[in-house]
Amino acid sequence: MTMQPTHVIIAGAGYGGLAVAMNLAKSESPTRITVLDRFEHHLLQTRLPQVAGGALDPRQAALPLTALLSSPRVEHRPAAVRGFDLAQHRVLTDRGPWPYDLLVIALGSEPEDYKIPGLRQHALRLKTLEDAQRISAHIQRALLRASPQRQPEASTFVIGGGGASGVELAAELAHALPRWASPHGLSPGRIRLVLVEAQERTLPASPPWMSRYATRALTRMGIEIRLGQPIVEVTDESVRLATGEEIHTQTTMWTGGVRAPWLEADLPLGPGRRIWVDPYLRAMGHPEVFAIGDVALIVDPHTGRPLEPSAQWAVQQGSAVARNIANFLKGRPEIPYRPRRAGELISLGPTDGVGRIGPLRLRGRPARWAKQLNEVRYLLTLGAWWHTLKWGLPMISASLDEK
Ligand SMILES: Cc1cc2nc3c(=O)[nH]c(=O)nc-3n(C[C@H](O)[C@H](O)[C@H](O)COP(=O)(O)OP(=O)(O)OC[C@H]3O[C@@H](n4cnc5c(N)ncnc54)[C@H](O)[C@@H]3O)c2cc1C
Repeated sequence: MTMQPTHVIIAGAGYGGLAVAMNLAKSESPTRITVLDRFEHHLLQTRLPQVAGGALDPRQAALPLTALLSSPRVEHRPAAVRGFDLAQHRVLTDRGPWPYDLLVIALGSEPEDYKIPGLRQHALRLKTLEDAQRISAHIQRALLRASPQRQPEASTFVIGGGGASGVELAAELAHALPRWASPHGLSPGRIRLVLVEAQERTLPASPPWMSRYATRALTRMGIEIRLGQPIVEVTDESVRLATGEEIHTQTTMWTGGVRAPWLEADLPLGPGRRIWVDPYLRAMGHPEVFAIGDVALIVDPHTGRPLEPSAQWAVQQGSAVARNIANFLKGRPEIPYRPRRAGELISLGPTDGVGRIGPLRLRGRPARWAKQLNEVRYLLTLGAWWHTLKWGLPMISASLDEK
């Protein structure tokens, strides 16, 4: 009698979901793997600021899932997940229900608007490839309006959120704006780029020396930085800060925080709707359900605080879950997940960056190169040779040439 392989459904083909699928496929455990995602591509979110600033072709940030998930034991199905029927072991999607034996929830996050009036309606977000392209197109349209009609609010751009993605976006736009404005006869002096952060420093999740370096670099680029000044209202013509300052703008971008997506499911949720998990990354009270990446609430034993959203954590957790599923199916003991912080790298435009790898502090070009090499390393772990050769290496050589 042959045993039916265990059917593992992975909801979400981002950093975490893909790590589960690829490691599990390699593990030779008796599994059949189905990956559900609303898109046909795996998105390199770390490259979105460069896509928004026109420094990267959108194709450099999206890898076709069919090419990545080539193992015969893995199938990819495009479907939008709406929720989970945990009692019946079914994923609920726009294409109908999908039964599973084991489920991995890796659906990432979505922008959190903190109920700030007007934010959801009027601010551009940066989470998908389309978002990045929308920001780029919106700014270029605004610059077109700004030139003949001399509307100062059309050439003023506000980014809400001075964390890693807001800082990276600001740096990219500081380089792109003069290039986009010059054909319209707009001098750089007529363009304003404002970065607003509610806390007292940029990069609040990073060590203070990184914040200081980033703030100085952005200020040198001509970016106006408002620290400790939460946004309290956004309209289609302005952004109002808690201090009462009103910035007249037709372009507000929001990178100020994320929360887990809303899902129809009876799961134990913590702050930011994130799913509470046990040390094995199982949703509390549901041994057949794992949650990883941005969607999971995991407390860092070193800091006592929840792990911040990061591709690094999602990939680590994906590998940990794949290993534990394989161990479980082979009757071996499972291993609790321990986060290992390899470092963090922030790019500040094409020639600058800041970060740390272990105890090593990096500033300037070495930090920028380290970030690019890290991305190439990631592409290689996915087996995306064609993408690395076509897009990764030319990008690095262009950056070496950049003055
Ligand atoms: C602009 C930006 C820059 C960033 N830069 C960095 C960086 O430099 N370094 C770093 O470590 N982290 C960075 N991050 C954070 C990092 O991208 C996330 O923490 C990481 O993507 C989380 O991985 P994940 O697997 O949990 O989710 P994701 O990678 O977001 O994957 C979730 C997947 O689920 C799919 N999905 C979502 N909802 C549904 C649904 N309802 N139905 C079907 N599919 C769905 C999505 O399409 C996606 O493929 C950045 C984030 C942003 C937005």
